[in-house]
Amino acid sequence: MPNPNSKLTDRGRKKIVVIGAGPVGCAEALWMEKRGHHVDVYEMREDPRISIDEKGSKSINLTISHRGLSSLEKINMKDRVCRKAIPCYGRMIHDRDKTTRISLYGEKNESILSVNREVLHTELVDAVDKCPNTRIFFNHKLVGTNFDKTEVTFQTPDPNRPADDKDNVTITSTVKADVILGCDGANSCMRKYMNRESYLRYKEESIDERYTELTMPATKHNKFAMKENYLHIWARDEFMLLALPNQDKSFTVTLFMPTNVFESLTDREAATAFVNEHFADAVSLIGEEQIVDRLTSRGNAHSLMWVKCSRYNIDGKVLLLGDAAHAMVPFYGQGVNCGFEDLMVLDKLLDDHNEDFEKAMNAFSEKRTEDAAAMCDLSLENYNELKRKVNTPWLSCRKRIDSILYRVFPSSWVPIYTMVAFSDIRYSDCVRKRKWQNKMIYGGVCAVVIAVSVITGLCSIAYTHGFTS
Ligand SMILES: Cc1cc2nc3c(=O)[nH]c(=O)nc-3n(C[C@H](O)[C@H](O)[C@H](O)COP(=O)(O)OP(=O)(O)OC[C@H]3O[C@@H](n4cnc5c(N)ncnc54)[C@H](O)[C@@H]3O)c2cc1C
Repeated sequence: MPNPNSKLTDRGRKKIVVIGAGPVGCAEALWMEKRGHHVDVYEMREDPRISIDEKGSKSINLTISHRGLSSLEKINMKDRVCRKAIPCYGRMIHDRDKTTRISLYGEKNESILSVNREVLHTELVDAVDKCPNTRIFFNHKLVGTNFDKTEVTFQTPDPNRPADDKDNVTITSTVKADVILGCDGANSCMRKYMNRESYLRYKEESIDERYTELTMPATKHNKFAMKENYLHIWARDEFMLLALPNQDKSFTVTLFMPTNVFESLTDREAATAFVNEHFADAVSLIGEEQIVDRLTSRGNAHSLMWVKCSRYNIDGKVLLLGDAAHAMVPFYGQGVNCGFEDLMVLDKLLDDHNEDFEKAMNAFSEKRTEDAAAMCDLSLENYNELKRKVNTPWLSCRKRIDSILYRVFPSSWVPIYTMVAFSDIRYSDCVRKRKWQNKMIYGGVCAVVIAVSVITGLCSIAYTHGFTS
């Protein structure tokens, strides 16, 4: 049943195969369905709605801001996601002496949304499941490609063998499509196959930091244990704890530390001393046992990586989107926002190029590689700001300068966080504007220092002269 809102004729309608039913893959299926194409989504894992029902949600929280929300709005998902999220208006910084201070995100009471990743994911899967022209196949792992023929091969468990049978993965099937979209995340197989079959080059790097997740439960009176409308942060130079609120009044807490610190905390005594030394006020709310259990059991410290590609497409046939194209470290909270924005950019380019996938994908690659690389670098830089600089007077002073200038010149001096989180200015332009602002500020500071030195010098000459003459 063709989408009644689509302008496509039957001849223009394509068979789109999406690899990966993560947040970006599901959202892209909704975008392509909206354009009127037939979409098949293949996901290697089981349906997340089954696992969330069986185990409850146990995943990281994501912050969704303007770019992500704009994209979700166009596929009618914004309200559904907002209903499951909690707005955060700024960072609440917890100092070592247990005092707290607030640093607002925007000048105009803007907020970002905190939403559990699994909750966001299941909302999107549910929406895809209800689309008339989109099918979703779980337990289908991509194991091969032939991009010349636009074919992909999957492995699925044999339904006639028991699920715990280790040799279960026996059935393979090959599917032909018009267009293949790789939305299979940071460790993308599609990216590797594209590198093998075409001239796509990429760089990926695991950084030296790892993270582990914890939960701060609601109080026994079923209230939030801390103020709910903030991202809470304990910045301790080498490591950092972040907490984001959930609708069930718990907080999802993420501890980021260098790998060697994780490695040094394998015995309970060391782990207990460490967490009480650095995060005493958080420990009392999370529970010492939970943190120590988490730190001392193996396999709980997850790695973080970034990816940059030379291009994202092969002709009009194959394209990478989301983390598969540009995974970034999570310190600006832009990974999924950037992924959702990809889909909006692609949609606009398909409109501009009259549904010519080759032209649209070439233009997409050119534009987005630059933007995603800029955001990737900015995210790495922000780690330093979060773990170290939130504690320095220069950062608060810089924030104040930005805030005053923004009020005086609202269209030409927009603070970097506002540009990234609350506007749709291209990421690469955000970085260019920020560099210009830095030059102006450092130039201004130098001019003031020189002027003060000259005036002081002149005064002292005049003073000495006055005395001697
Ligand atoms: C600790 C942490 C905090 C973060 N916080 C934020 C935040 O606050 N804000 C933000 O915007 N972003 C954040 N991010 C980033 C965000 O999680 C990612 O950008 C987002 O999940 C990417 O979505 P995706 O659909 O592209 O990839 P994924 O979520 O990785 O989904 C990829 C899907 O592809 C499937 N797949 C993989 N290989 C195959 C295969 N061979 N065959 C079939 N299927 C396959 C996977 O099973 C998965 O379902 C954070 C990330 C981390 C690690």
